[in-house]
Amino acid sequence: MYILVINSGSSSIKVKLFDSRTLDVIASGGADRIGEQGSSIDFKGNRGAYRRELRMTNHSQAIKEIIKALMNTETGALHTINDIKAVGHRCVHGGGRFIDSALIDNDVIAKMEECIPLAPLHNPPNLIGIKEARLLLADTPQVAVFDTAFHQTMPKHAFLYAIPYELYKEHHIRRYGFHGTSFRFVLESMGQLLERSIDQARVIIAHLGNGSSITAVNRGKSVDTSMGMTPVEGLMMGTRSGDLDNGILLYLMNKLGMSVNEVDTMLNKKSGFLGVSGRGNDVRDIIEYAGRGDQRCRLALEICAYRIKKYIGAFAAAMGGLDYLVFTAGIGENSFVMRELICQDLDFLGIKLDPVLNRQTQGTGCDISEKNGQTRVIVVPTNEELMIARDTQRLAGLA
Ligand code: ADP
Repeated sequence: MYILVINSGSSSIKVKLFDSRTLDVIASGGADRIGEQGSSIDFKGNRGAYRRELRMTNHSQAIKEIIKALMNTETGALHTINDIKAVGHRCVHGGGRFIDSALIDNDVIAKMEECIPLAPLHNPPNLIGIKEARLLLADTPQVAVFDTAFHQTMPKHAFLYAIPYELYKEHHIRRYGFHGTSFRFVLESMGQLLERSIDQARVIIAHLGNGSSITAVNRGKSVDTSMGMTPVEGLMMGTRSGDLDNGILLYLMNKLGMSVNEVDTMLNKKSGFLGVSGRGNDVRDIIEYAGRGDQRCRLALEICAYRIKKYIGAFAAAMGGLDYLVFTAGIGENSFVMRELICQDLDFLGIKLDPVLNRQTQGTGCDISEKNGQTRVIVVPTNEELMIARDTQRLAGLA
């Protein structure tokens, strides 16, 4: 019997099928380019690979095709759709309403709909995925797992912006933070990796992927995080700017005549590594070009590392010290170059990288600090889908 985890985005739906008891991955894949030219379904699983190019005009069709693929007689894992005992959905924005994952009912859906203005790009496709899955699997428990839920423990002084208070009260404008599912997974894995409890520790977790954020976790609770009301605040990312003087936005609109949409595109799609380097958003490429002497790529790496350093300093101050600095996600897990740049000259915080261990570590969990480093620096691979499967197993009563 299985748990299906669905991550429904604007033009793709990624799914993973887990054994409902052991949480081993049975199959993973999904639908790509939904509503565009060249849409396809791809799967890899215990019984082989499956690929089919077919026109999929909407998410409803895509979910049906995904289930069909999972039931394919040659390569599919499912005999019938009833083999799915629960469904877990990745949900980006739960606003201030969800402090944990939730069993989905009409009320949960209504609350998610209320959060659409806070995440207009993410919540609508998440909701479509939920609604379609409920149509197909009406009697199967479904669970919403929110990226924002973990950060609901932040104190007011950390989540409020210094703008008129009414904007918070009436329009819910505040910091929410994201990547919470990843941060929770990393915290659970840390305990296992270190073979000791980190319940009382002060931890900074840097989730560095195409989208990046960094979080301060004090005694197991998120106390501050770099992303804000939207995922554009905070660290420099693949194509997002991160922190910015708000006055620049006014300047762009007033003086350069840019429209709201143009500013939106610039901040979310043309900035970050892409904007600074002019080369692209993939840090692997940026590192390679920088190595060949490309100055703007070098600069992009330096800006990124410098900003992460500033957050580490700020969050260590917020917690009155630091016990663990953790790197996770695509860049954090795989790039020794970025980890080296970030940790340089942070000895005053007790951070001392072991250069050999740092270089050797790629994609695996490892303590990469020197023996006498007071603050332990650790690489912990994240796995958001597995965290969603765990929550689904728990809330659907399959544990
Ligand atoms: P997403 O935010 O899309 O989930 P990931 O966590 O998968 O992103 O991270 C993707 C990014 O990780 C890529 O854009 C790439 O920049 C970076 N990355 C992956 N491997 C390496 C590596 N060996 N060195 C540097 N960067 C890497």
